[in-house]
Amino acid sequence: MGSLAEFRINISKLSEGIHEYHFEAEPLKIGLDERFSGTVKIEAKLDKSLRQMFLQVEIQAEGSFFCDRCLENFHQEMNTAYSMVYVQGARSAVDLNKKEDIQILTADMNYIDLDDDVRQYVLLTIPQKLLCREDCQGFCPVCGVNKNIASCTCNDQAVDSRWDVLKKLSHN
Ligand SMILES: [Zn+2]
Ligand SMILES: [Zn+2]
Repeated sequence: MGSLAEFRINISKLSEGIHEYHFEAEPLKIGLDERFSGTVKIEAKLDKSLRQMFLQVEIQAEGSFFCDRCLENFHQEMNTAYSMVYVQGARSAVDLNKKEDIQILTADMNYIDLDDDVRQYVLLTIPQKLLCREDCQGFCPVCGVNKNIASCTCNDQAVDSRWDVLKKLSHN
């Protein structure tokens, strides 16, 4: 995107020890789509030692999604966290560890940007199956009624008639 990152930590003159940050950004500014509403908030704790930095991030985001079962819109809070190790220079030191949550810092880097990582970790919190609630009853495929709100009897009939067809087939 080229624009200035929303979640950016200046590391050029950072002393060793623990540093804490609070950031807020609009979802679109960090590349989240329009399903995400409200401000994305992060609490970051950076522990800097001589050759590496250990970063812990807690993320608060929220979005509204369409339920896979009843197709109603629902609001969901999405809180997640991740940690990342930033290592100075030498790639060989990183290869030894073979960990995925490691990023390499080169000597000319004056800051670290968290936008991409935050976006990816927020996206990971979206469940495979989006449900407005665990026990969502969905809608009736016959009459279209939302079974969370109203009930109908056509589902039973539909099952019965399909069963009848099967019975006829097996008898012929
Ligand atoms: Zn639902
Ligand atoms: Zn029905």
